[in-house]
Amino acid sequence: MRTAGFLSFVLAALPCLRVASAGCRVVSRGITRDLLLRGTVITPEGALPNYTVLVQSGKVTYVGDSCGLGTRARDASHIECADSVISPGFINTHEHIEYSTVRPLADIGELVDHRHDWRVGARGHTPRYAPVNGSKVEATRWGELRHLFSGTTSIVGGAMVSGLTRNLDYVAGLEDGLVAPVALNDVFPLDDADGIMRNGDCDYGPEPMNRETAGKLHRYIAHIGEGLDAEAANEFACLSNMTFDNMPASDGGGLSTDLIAPNLAIIHALGLSTADFDLVAARDAQVVWSPRSNVFLYGKTLNVTYLLEAGITVALGTDWLPSGSATMGREAVCAASFTEESYGMTLEPKTLWEMMTLNAAKVAGFEQDLGSIEVGKLADIVVFDGQAQGRSDMKHQSDAFAQAIFAPAENIELVLRGGKFMLASNGLKSLSTDTCETLAFGNVNKTACVADELGSSFKEFEASLQGVYPAILPAVPPDEPSCELTRCYPTTQNQCSIEDHFTINTQQVLHR
Ligand SMILES: [Zn+2]
Repeated sequence: MRTAGFLSFVLAALPCLRVASAGCRVVSRGITRDLLLRGTVITPEGALPNYTVLVQSGKVTYVGDSCGLGTRARDASHIECADSVISPGFINTHEHIEYSTVRPLADIGELVDHRHDWRVGARGHTPRYAPVNGSKVEATRWGELRHLFSGTTSIVGGAMVSGLTRNLDYVAGLEDGLVAPVALNDVFPLDDADGIMRNGDCDYGPEPMNRETAGKLHRYIAHIGEGLDAEAANEFACLSNMTFDNMPASDGGGLSTDLIAPNLAIIHALGLSTADFDLVAARDAQVVWSPRSNVFLYGKTLNVTYLLEAGITVALGTDWLPSGSATMGREAVCAASFTEESYGMTLEPKTLWEMMTLNAAKVAGFEQDLGSIEVGKLADIVVFDGQAQGRSDMKHQSDAFAQAIFAPAENIELVLRGGKFMLASNGLKSLSTDTCETLAFGNVNKTACVADELGSSFKEFEASLQGVYPAILPAVPPDEPSCELTRCYPTTQNQCSIEDHFTINTQQVLHR
């Protein structure tokens, strides 16, 4: 008894000691599955060095100064993550996750002005459709692994498998006992899957989303205005103005409506004007931003600083593997670099981090349970070690938020979903179970614990897919779609200003 009492005293005292070493390591092994993490915790209030997070029964039960813990963590395993940052897991608010076993599209040097140009080859364009490769279920599982192994714990992805990431658009995909209404993720709110484009009326398909149905949804996350032209702008007009088109079409549909409300999140929104965004802001609607896919397909993306200044909640999403980012980290790199190069504006790492965590939870309607490390929320936590990736001139190399959002996958020390070990560095291997396996992330080994979710080892699953696009992506993913500025306007030659973007419909576009 005396020994046990002494041990409890030592464990309770340990959090107050400072241990300096890179990465995470197990300081003491507990008698329960509770975990005590210590490192720099990043929160909407800022980065809090030398803070502790206690995880019990899958939830966060304490966040604060380590000396205030008392004995409540005495049964937990203590993990010291000096020089690392402890972040909520990323939330990806836009994916077409079933397209995860195809390779990114090749750049054929052809920019388009509307999604139907590349989707169906409208207006003489080359169709760029990328069919789902093999089993949709296996592709979805593979895509969830890719995101999980790069720090994303929740996805709005249009398809789901059990386990792995949470699926915030499926009740069955919420995991860990989370019970909540889910988001409706809509690719064709105007029933225009066949490639219908309109300008001046709303004669799309016969069954567009209506105001009454949309109004009842917890969250309605919908593709609107994916394009740069008048036809893309027309989509917003048809969904934001009751009087824009009062003439029903003969075979159904044809009427404009108004869905702009706090439960709406607009995916892409490229065709919206400043006045449109002012309406979005006034109505408290939200925007999902997928910069890499926008830039690769259309040559540009939103000047998101205007939206932020207007007070719009913006969340990041990767769109899909064929034209978007393979990971949320690569989406953040694109978002920051394009905004700076194209618009001359700086997006602070903390702002981008909010788009990947708390804002994303709000957009998906899960801010009560996810999106930050707070007492009572689910313990979806990612720990990042090392330096941020990105351009060598990136100003924020020492910023804790940059360390998280720009981290290459090999920098991940730990991924917890609901307190469950999903991926860990070798320094934490002693906490893994028999079903965990060692996987190479570039030059470093990690321990992955996904066999329960897959029904096989990761390596067996990988082998069964016979050489599809990888799910483990250290450094820059292979064949990554470009995030380089490819469109400018006659008035400014090599610089695209905010005014250029929002007057696109009245200016001649130069392709270069
Ligand atoms: Zn999409």
